[in-house]
Amino acid sequence: MGDCFFCKISSGEIPTEFLFEDDKVVAFRDIDPQGPFHILIIPKEHYTSIKEVKDKSLTGHMFSVGNRVAEDNNIENFRYIINTGEEAGQTVFHVHLHLIGGRRMTWPPG
Ligand code: 5GP
Ligand code: ZN
Repeated sequence: MGDCFFCKISSGEIPTEFLFEDDKVVAFRDIDPQGPFHILIIPKEHYTSIKEVKDKSLTGHMFSVGNRVAEDNNIENFRYIINTGEEAGQTVFHVHLHLIGGRRMTWPPG
């Protein structure tokens, strides 16, 4: 996936501070945070959207990592978001799990 920005982040080609890394995923801060704490958890393998991820252990792992990073950072209340498709607000087409916390949330989302 030569031109995928998030592949370059997860492979280390673009230097980025990781809050978590293992052989499957990385977690790093969103460049345009929508709250005091906003991270993205992404698989190292390229998938355009969550619809492409058939491996349930990978999706489960992404959430486990999010839970752990939140706990490590004392974030007790947070929201997970996976925008899927342009109309839903997806702008980067390498699947990513948003974890946003540190402020009161409203519902429904816009
Ligand atoms: P989406 O809109 O696709 O759900 O979310 C893409 C997210 O990636 C946005 O929240 C945006 O701020 C973030 N983002 C885009 N480019 C970069 C980047 O180069 N570095 C980081 N850390 N986040 C990025
Ligand atoms: Zn990618």
